[in-house]
Amino acid sequence: MRDRGTIAAIATATAPAGVGVVRVSGADAINFAATVLRTVTPLAAQPSATLRRMEVTEPQTGEVIDDGLVAVFRAPNSFTGENVVELQGHGGSVTLGRVLAAVLSAGARLARPGEFSERAFVAGKLDLAQAEAVASLIEAQTVTAQRAARRQLSGAVSLAVGEATTAIGDALARIEASIDFPEDVGELLTDVVATQIVFDALTRARTIAANLLATATYGKRLTEGITLVLAGRPNVGKSSLLNALSGYERAIVSPIAGTTRDIVEEALQIGGIPIRALDTAGIRETGDAVEQIGVARARGAVETADVVVAVIDGAEGVTPEDAAFLRSLVGRAVVVAVNKSDAANVEHAVREAATLLPNAPVVAVAARTGHGLPALSDAILSLLGANNVDTNAALITSARHTDALRRAANALDAALQTLTDGLPAELIAVDAHAAIACFGEITGQTAREEIIAGIFSRFCIGK
Ligand code: GDP
Repeated sequence: MRDRGTIAAIATATAPAGVGVVRVSGADAINFAATVLRTVTPLAAQPSATLRRMEVTEPQTGEVIDDGLVAVFRAPNSFTGENVVELQGHGGSVTLGRVLAAVLSAGARLARPGEFSERAFVAGKLDLAQAEAVASLIEAQTVTAQRAARRQLSGAVSLAVGEATTAIGDALARIEASIDFPEDVGELLTDVVATQIVFDALTRARTIAANLLATATYGKRLTEGITLVLAGRPNVGKSSLLNALSGYERAIVSPIAGTTRDIVEEALQIGGIPIRALDTAGIRETGDAVEQIGVARARGAVETADVVVAVIDGAEGVTPEDAAFLRSLVGRAVVVAVNKSDAANVEHAVREAATLLPNAPVVAVAARTGHGLPALSDAILSLLGANNVDTNAALITSARHTDALRRAANALDAALQTLTDGLPAELIAVDAHAAIACFGEITGQTAREEIIAGIFSRFCIGK
């Protein structure tokens, strides 16, 4: 049984801020809040979804802790579907902590992580995918990620899942009628038209799963971000390229070889994907002990990178050291950037690099002028599986959804195969039901309670 007691938590960040909000939810929210508030009209008489001035007092001493505005929302018309009171006072951890303590001393219990969202889900205010979108929205690092979360919150993923479920439901109705009333509707597999209807309906659902799955790689990158490492010999222009990519000066740029001895990190974004870009020490043989450490770190960073941008000095051409480095990257997600195209004809170096790494995109760039940067970004995005994704469509950004969709797709493949093979309708029904259950995990209709609890427990307190 879920505990339905009245809960309270700080809903805003506990950093210094102009405004801070303590949220109270549950049957006694208005009573408990009234105990600690001074308002002109009694809280119980305050109309729903309105703001009134308030002072928060400490119940034992009557000391005024803070002042601000109070909002009341009555069940079922609130975020959680319960009575909700929001105390909007000043920000800052001490003030917010004291306001929360006052509400708790009035009888509320501290909310568990994600408990407000969980209650909203239980009340049917949000489905599971939408509740998860609230978390993604709050955690979004780029505008593109934020938009994807908004779309999920507004129900884009849920809608697609609903369409797939409806299509399977249509197929099942026809399948089950043929099982239950073969004399009235006929055996499914002897009826060409019925078989085609079932086949089309299951295929529709399969296509929806495939379309959603096609966005999963991009969606994962969008929410989790990636690590990109710029690597190559000293002085080929790695720092300059990092600066050009991030659009402002950050790394130390110098004509003396070996200045970037440690790893310089820069946060940037390409196509909305948050990128942790690392500028590494030039990879070369060196006698300098400090530089050796830098080189070792550079190699380590290359090993763990999601994408490597191997930088070549196009003015010098591909040196034997470059060639050895490029060969060591075979099989990796790598883009070769042949730099300094403003100062020299780099075509020969581009061709040579392409021969050494046949599957990697090779792009001529000039960090100094910005030439080739859009092509470099495109090459990076295509390595990340982020090209050809309709960023306005529903995006799958969660590993949980991806897993459920894969299982739904497998079940639908099995159902379609059974149908094609002319095996009994009962077998098709089993797989069709399994597919519906998988889709239902995404919206929470068929997710087990402990799984749901696990999802909400990863939310932060006050959400
Ligand atoms: P790193 O050691 O690989 O990080 O190389 P830097 O970014 O420090 O650049 C080394 C030298 O190459 C500096 O003098 C830069 O000004 C120069 N450089 C970098 N990029 C370009 C470019 O696109 N064109 C030209 N002409 N010079 C560049």
